[in-house]
Amino acid sequence: MDKRKVRVRFAPSPTGPLHIGGVRTALYNFLFARKNNGVFILRIEDTDQTRFVPGAEEYIIESLKWCGITIDEGIEEGGPYGPYRQSDRKELYKEFSQRLIDSGNAYYAFDTAEELEAMRERLKEQKNSVQQYNAITRGDMKNSLTLSETETNNLLNSGAPFVIRFKMPDNENVLVEDIVRGTVSVNTNQIDDKVLFKSDGMPTYHLANVVDDHLMKISHVIRGEEWLPSLPLHVLLYRAFGWESTMPEFAHLPLLLKPSGQGKLSKRDGDALGFPVFPLEWTDPGTGDVSRGYREDGYFPDAFVNMLAFLGWNPGTEEEILSLNEMAFHFDLTKVHKAGAKFDPEKAKWFNHKYLTKKNSTKLANLYQEVLKKKNIHVSDDYVIKVVSLIKERANFVSDFWDQSCFFFQAPQKYDQDVVKKRWKEETPKLLSEIKEQLEKVEDFDLMSLEKVVHDFVEEKGIGMGQLMNPLRLTLVGAGIGPGVLEIMELLGKEEALKRIRSGIEKIN
Ligand code: GLU
Repeated sequence: MDKRKVRVRFAPSPTGPLHIGGVRTALYNFLFARKNNGVFILRIEDTDQTRFVPGAEEYIIESLKWCGITIDEGIEEGGPYGPYRQSDRKELYKEFSQRLIDSGNAYYAFDTAEELEAMRERLKEQKNSVQQYNAITRGDMKNSLTLSETETNNLLNSGAPFVIRFKMPDNENVLVEDIVRGTVSVNTNQIDDKVLFKSDGMPTYHLANVVDDHLMKISHVIRGEEWLPSLPLHVLLYRAFGWESTMPEFAHLPLLLKPSGQGKLSKRDGDALGFPVFPLEWTDPGTGDVSRGYREDGYFPDAFVNMLAFLGWNPGTEEEILSLNEMAFHFDLTKVHKAGAKFDPEKAKWFNHKYLTKKNSTKLANLYQEVLKKKNIHVSDDYVIKVVSLIKERANFVSDFWDQSCFFFQAPQKYDQDVVKKRWKEETPKLLSEIKEQLEKVEDFDLMSLEKVVHDFVEEKGIGMGQLMNPLRLTLVGAGIGPGVLEIMELLGKEEALKRIRSGIEKIN
């Protein structure tokens, strides 16, 4: 038999900004598609009109673009199985729910909210542990199984509100193989007669999701663990439609957990611990509240997706820094972990640091120039490239550059008193005056010459390197930070370096 063409979909509901757990689901689908020369589809599941949030769909699309997750078929891209937004496929679902009614797998239910509540109360009083619409209770309710055909038709014709429910088989064990979780077994008595179609003329998630996965020829459903409880119903729907032979394979991904490992990662954790849980900044259209995004926090998209991919999967080697292509090459659904993945904000920064140090200094300098221009500092690209090369090892983000390098653009205005106390000794001014004299004589103010001068000087004086270098740094930087003292001097240039040493000797004491 021909191997089935891999077609996967990411199927978010536009109910708000995409959580990073959702981005990871999209990413795994994308990596799996790329690995198998398959197709990655974006389908927008917007059938729950009560939860629709304006701007959320655009946000999802922009997030995937920023991550470098390219869509093969979708709303903007089109494709042979469109439309790719469920509200644009509305008519279709009616027809499919009708099919289930005709085959006896679904039925109309006319119960009002009050009647449903009364049913639950009754079951509670009878000390029933489950209070749901199911094989046992449906016989006492107002539906097309208890009403005559004429009564049902009259109600439908009169425009009475109704839903269509799935007729859950009685006491049957449903077995499904999940690629991540292994065999999943559920008895149908534990599941209620789920609503498939609502009185507003829209399908529920379950119906639309299964119908679309079938029509779009989805080969693998890769989604979050929170959908695992829906799996038996979905399998029964495939069966009821007669689509079992082309049913997709399933892989339910582990949850993203709080840094403590206790419970699901939420926006509140991010707010409390100071990290974003959304890829891009999001402004709530209702309240105007702004939530932080990884993009705006200064993460590189490649670092962000690398970090996310490793929450629940790794290629089984020591290598942690991988591009999207490399990850796709190694990706394997059977290696996805079962246990929840603890989110580690420090590790997220570490990934960004690794990508930052890998980027070439010219590119980083361009980004840094934007920061400098905002501060009204205008210097040559060449100079900024040199600064960046010296400090990038010490930064996680471009926004860290200024703190690490401001002294390359302005002479110290003040001197860190803690460092002064510790490093500025009685003999320091004299030592610095003497080295200054030596430095004045240096013609080529480059690292090699400076090294020689300094080396000879400490040798001759019989002092430790630190005795000279620490106060020297203080005069140049104003603090105890920064790259090597000689590198700093070389980049500042002879005139500026000597000027700073001179001022230091005058002002520090
Ligand atoms: N619309 C569902 C969601 O928002 C999709 C679940 C699935 O992939 O089946 O997550």
